[in-house]
Amino acid sequence: MMRDLDISTLTKVRAIVAGRHDEILNSIRRLVEIESPSCDVQGSKGVVALLESIASTIPSITKIDKINSPDRGEHLLISAFAPSGNNHHATLILGHTDTVHPRGTLNAGYGLRAEGDRLYGPGIFDMKASCVMALEALRCLTEVDLLPERPVKLLLTCDEEIGSATGRPLVEHEARVAAQVLVLEPPAPGGRVKTARKGVGVWTVAAQGVASHAGLNPEAGASAILELARQTQRLHSWNDPVRGTSFNVGLVRGGTSGNVVAARAEIEVDVRFSAMDEAYRVENLMNTLQSFDERVLLQIKGGINRTPLERTDGVVKLFHHARKIAAGLGFDLEERAVGGASDGNFVAALNVPVLDGLGIDGDGAHAAHEHILVDDLAPRTALLAGLLATL
Ligand SMILES: [Zn+2]
Repeated sequence: MMRDLDISTLTKVRAIVAGRHDEILNSIRRLVEIESPSCDVQGSKGVVALLESIASTIPSITKIDKINSPDRGEHLLISAFAPSGNNHHATLILGHTDTVHPRGTLNAGYGLRAEGDRLYGPGIFDMKASCVMALEALRCLTEVDLLPERPVKLLLTCDEEIGSATGRPLVEHEARVAAQVLVLEPPAPGGRVKTARKGVGVWTVAAQGVASHAGLNPEAGASAILELARQTQRLHSWNDPVRGTSFNVGLVRGGTSGNVVAARAEIEVDVRFSAMDEAYRVENLMNTLQSFDERVLLQIKGGINRTPLERTDGVVKLFHHARKIAAGLGFDLEERAVGGASDGNFVAALNVPVLDGLGIDGDGAHAAHEHILVDDLAPRTALLAGLLATL
C-alpha cells in the first residue's frame, strides 16, 4: 500500500535538505577525495569508515554492519527505522562504493572541481554523491518526524563495477525479503529513472583447427581464424534491433604467425537482450553453435551473467508513485529503458519491484568529465525521502 504525502510536508523535506546544502556538499567532497577503485581494500575501508561516521550522526539509524570482502574491501549495510505493525519487509536502497577510476586520477588533472552548477570528480556521479544522498534522506525524515511504516535498509557494495561477485549474494539475500528496491545508479539524461535494463550474456568461443605451412601445404590446414571470422559474421547476423537483442564480438585473439595456418583462435561475445524468453533463445543459439569447417572443433564457454530488468507491473507502479512525489516537489520525473545492466537486474530476477536510476543527475559516468548537477541535490534527496516515507 502506497501512502500519499501532502505537498507541505514534501516542501518541508526539501527545505531541510536545502538548508544542509554546504554540509552535504562537504561530505560528498570528502568521499570523492578517498579514491576507491574496485579491489582497493584501503580505499574501500576509507569510504566505508567515512559513511559510517556520517551515519552515526543520524538518530534513526539502528544498526551499521560492515561485511568483509577479502581482497576487495568492505560492504556496508545500514538499517534504519523499526517496523510499525506488520510491515516487516523493508524498503531496500541499493548502491555501491567502488569506482572504475584508478588510484591517482584525483591528482592527474581530474580532481574535484566546480564549474557553475557542476561538481566534477572521479566516481561522483557513479555514485558517491548518491551514497551521501541516501544517508541525508534518512536524516531529514527523522527531522520532519516522518516515520516510514517499513524499516529501511541501505546496502552499499564494494565490487559492483567488476561484476559483484561478492556483493551479489548480499544483494539477493536482502532483496529477497524486501518489499521493494530503490537503486541509486545514475539516472538517464534529464534525470530519468530506469524502468528497464537489458540483460547480459558473455561467451568465449575457442576454435581448435589444424596448423600447416601456409606456403608448402596450405590445403592440409584448417584455419581457426577463418572459422571464427565466419562465426563472427553469423553472430552479428543474429542482431535483432526490433526485439532489442544484440550480439557483439568485441575481442579476438589467435594464430601464431603470418606463414602458418592458424591452429587456435578465440573470440569473446557480449550479448544483450530485453526479455527473459530472449535470454533463453540466445543461450540455446550459443550452446548449439556448429563449426562451418568440420575439421575445426569449437569450445563454447560462458552464459547469462545478468537477466533483464523488465518493465513489470511492479516496476510501473513504483515509477508512477515516484512521479507523483516528484510532481509534488515541482518537477517532472520521466523514465527510460537502457542497455546497460546493474545490480538492479539481480533484484528483478527475484520478482521484487525495483526502481533504478534514482541517483543525482549529472553526466560522464566512468569518464574524465564525470560530474553531478549540484542543483539536483535537494529535489532528488527529497524524492528519495518521499519514497521511503510512503512505500
Ligand atoms: Zn554504478
